[in-house]
Amino acid sequence: MSKPVPRPGILDIAAYVPGKEHAPGVARVYKLSSNETPLGASPKAIEAFKAVADNLGRYPDGQAIELREAIAAVHGLNPANILCGNGSDELLGLLCHVYLGAGDEGIITEHGFLVYKIQILGAGATPVVVKEKDYTVDVDAILAAVTEKTKIVFIANPGNPTGTYVSVSEIRRLQAGLPKHVVLVLDAAYAEYVRRNDYEAGIEIVSSHANVVMTRTFSKAYGLAALRVGWMYAPAEIVDALNRVRAPFNLNAPAIAAAAAAIRDQAFIQQAVSFNQMWVERLTQALEAIGLKVTPSVANFVLIHFPEIDGKRAADADDLLTSRGYILRAVRGYGFANALRMSIGPEEANRGVIAALTEFMGHQA
Ligand code: PMP
Repeated sequence: MSKPVPRPGILDIAAYVPGKEHAPGVARVYKLSSNETPLGASPKAIEAFKAVADNLGRYPDGQAIELREAIAAVHGLNPANILCGNGSDELLGLLCHVYLGAGDEGIITEHGFLVYKIQILGAGATPVVVKEKDYTVDVDAILAAVTEKTKIVFIANPGNPTGTYVSVSEIRRLQAGLPKHVVLVLDAAYAEYVRRNDYEAGIEIVSSHANVVMTRTFSKAYGLAALRVGWMYAPAEIVDALNRVRAPFNLNAPAIAAAAAAIRDQAFIQQAVSFNQMWVERLTQALEAIGLKVTPSVANFVLIHFPEIDGKRAADADDLLTSRGYILRAVRGYGFANALRMSIGPEEANRGVIAALTEFMGHQA
């Protein structure tokens, strides 16, 4: 009997698997596996979200004008260069569907975010994976991998799950070395956390080139992951192309209202960022003091590498942590067989993980 058959390649795609959420039998669970903020959203965002409840019979604004204008005001941009998405995941997918087709190649890096590969394959194109250097994007390796089939390059800055950072001069070098028709995607999902003076310069790179876009999200520092709001800053022609194929009302009304209120509350973000920075430093020091290696992170998570002690590895640490209610992220799918990624959590969770890993490493807690 004949039946519908997906396009070639679709069934070769491994679907994205979110981190685990549960610790069976444990009463108090801390989910530290999805880089969510422990501080939640700005009270002003929650208020704006609730206010929309009176108007649920109406379609949202399909252009998300209020939100685009709020983002533009905070970042000093033109709203015409901003496109909002149902999470930045949607924008990453739209970029692939618009700029890639059968026979094309998309370059991604060794430990890059898994969604890039899924979307490149979903567009019928071929992902080309290049090596990283010291868990960091290697511009020379990317440039060496470019062929006449390359149409898009994805880098996450900061990287996930590594938390490492590519300087603006390296990004400029990458842009300068790429053919001008190749779209360079700077995925800056964790940008708000980065305390480097040259970071906002990334925005300037987008402004001055026709082939560079930056994607951002409200899921991380803004604490609105549940609402699925991302945005992209891009040349007007790229915004126009994506607008032609996106779903007409891709953002819902509570999401637009809450995100606009959230971005106007920069004082709240500053608190979230300070809390995060303090704990990234404390955790890194505490875990290194008990013999673990932590990749220096500029984001809201740390990648913890485990030595092999008495045959015990990251998976065993994961079991112990889960039994205590601390859910970290196994990162085998990102090429790290013996590491765990931990999102910065509330203080008691951060302390609890340090205590459990101190015990795991055979030290006195
Ligand atoms: N890019 C990176 C590097 C991420 O880690 C994430 C979240 N896991 C995203 C994009 C997608 O975020 P969202 O769709 O929630 O905006």
